[in-house]
Amino acid sequence: MSNHGAGSVATAQMRSCRTFALPSTVIPHVAARNIIGIDLGTTYSLVARMDGDRAIVLPNRLGETQTPSAVSITAQGEILVGAPARARAVTHPDATFRNFKRDMGTDRVFAAFGLSFRAEELSAMVLKQLAADAEEALGGAIDEAVVTVPAYFGELQRRATRDACEIAELYVERIINEPTAAALAYGLDRRDRESRIAILDLGGGTFDVSVLEIIEGVIEIQGTAGDARLGGEDFLEALVDHVAKRVLGTHGFDPRVEPATRARLLETCEQAKRRLSTAKQVDLRVPTTGEETVVVTVTRDEVERLWQPTLQKLHAPIRRALRDACVLPRAIDEVVLVGGATRMPAVQQLANELFGRTPLTNISPDEAVAHGAAIQVGLKSGDPAPEDMVATDIAPFSIGVSTVENRGRRTLQGVFSPILERGTVLPASRVERFVTAAENQTQIKILVYQGEHSSCEDNTLLGEYELEGIHKGAAGEENIDVRFSYDLNGLLEVDMTVVSTAVTKTLVVERSGGKMTQPQLADARDSLQRLKFHPRDALPNTTALARAESAFVELRGAQREALGHAMRSFRLALEEQRPTEIEHARRQLMALLGDFSL
Ligand code: AMP
Repeated sequence: MSNHGAGSVATAQMRSCRTFALPSTVIPHVAARNIIGIDLGTTYSLVARMDGDRAIVLPNRLGETQTPSAVSITAQGEILVGAPARARAVTHPDATFRNFKRDMGTDRVFAAFGLSFRAEELSAMVLKQLAADAEEALGGAIDEAVVTVPAYFGELQRRATRDACEIAELYVERIINEPTAAALAYGLDRRDRESRIAILDLGGGTFDVSVLEIIEGVIEIQGTAGDARLGGEDFLEALVDHVAKRVLGTHGFDPRVEPATRARLLETCEQAKRRLSTAKQVDLRVPTTGEETVVVTVTRDEVERLWQPTLQKLHAPIRRALRDACVLPRAIDEVVLVGGATRMPAVQQLANELFGRTPLTNISPDEAVAHGAAIQVGLKSGDPAPEDMVATDIAPFSIGVSTVENRGRRTLQGVFSPILERGTVLPASRVERFVTAAENQTQIKILVYQGEHSSCEDNTLLGEYELEGIHKGAAGEENIDVRFSYDLNGLLEVDMTVVSTAVTKTLVVERSGGKMTQPQLADARDSLQRLKFHPRDALPNTTALARAESAFVELRGAQREALGHAMRSFRLALEEQRPTEIEHARRQLMALLGDFSL
């Protein structure tokens, strides 16, 4: 079965009147309590707290404000969390876990070296590290935290987030929605008039849009929509292809082919993409097979033309969220930009043109959600907390089918083709048309998955069905319509129709979810205690080495030699346990990595 591009033949959507509010309890302020706000992100997490009437982000053990939401396991069964774990994604991809926030509330298991964890347990490890770092920064135990979740998180994923906090033994009274936090960060809840706010959150791999209505301290999320496969990475890929083609044209060499040059090219383009947010033009040093680099100059105008197709994709979720909220772009009073990729001037301009107003950007887009979580903490101590609710029932996961994709001579199996996107307002019914993939195919196996990963094997299988009655013919000759209808009780009905014969089959699947039981939670808490975490004191050294090792894989020639030398000096100092030399060698290593922009 293959995905047929313009396959959508019908969509129907209704707005639900049901609301579910998050509890808003006002608790008395106790002066010496350490309460923090946590933005538990897909790629990075941040901790903030109030300092007077200002929210500030706390640095972690490494002095960095963003802690990668990553966990890595060593062959000795030791657990690394944060920056050193993220650095190991290059050298130890099978033992390094990232993006697990997408699997909260599912039964997916992440395993390496005989250890296995659910997404809740991995999130608990991140939370534990964030809390430990915050304790160090604040000089006292953390009494309580406010944690943010995406607006599209359903009950199951909210429960899973609470479970993660429980496993981490972090007391969390309140979970708030990320767009609500962003609105709080800008003080939009304190306006004396009714306002409508659009929050555009463009991260590395996801785009989320929320439309909020704020009336007298009640923040209601009236519409949300998103694209779980659209983000800063897509802009990067477009730039990488453009630069590689230029090098191929001038030097007859494609830096995308070899893994080592591809990795360096990605890094160089990532830096260039960021610089182009402030500079009009940048020079990129593109690696070749030897030690030489080729200088390629790209201008912002040039890349913005290149990015047009990706920029265009931002429109659909914005339109959907506005439609769900029943508002026109001009009725929006403020636009808030969240997520690192909204630093791109082209994204800001798009928002400006669409809504006819300058978006709010003065809080760092990476930090706005954490700021809002801290402000929520601050509000608890005095003013009544604003009520934060989601006005609609939303599909918390994307649901789709497994398809085959032809890429030149290669055939990719198990490609996830979503039919009902995460964030769709329920109840909803969507149909997509597919075609047969093989010649003389007489039956089709329809595998229904839920999740946000592009490959089906990383998503959760909800059910499978065989559809017969297909006329033999050439590949692509027979059309099959697959309709998903999702009701408010989580029942998913799948209707499959062979278009030429009108043979129809119906399958009903229950919304799958792996809620953790009390004994499972107790077990997870106990095993977290027993796990061997990498010693915190050693984290700066381990991180430096992990970053150097991942850079070593990507470098070549003189740079690789220089890095190897610096790594050996550092290891020697570590072995001999000479604190001054260790410090000196680590600084040298980090300086070298900085020089190579790694
Ligand atoms: P987040 O997940 O919110 O941290 O967003 C990360 C994304 O933001 C990545 O795709 C980065 O490339 C992108 N990003 C961060 N800083 C900038 C910048 N200055 N200009 C353009 N993109 C950026």
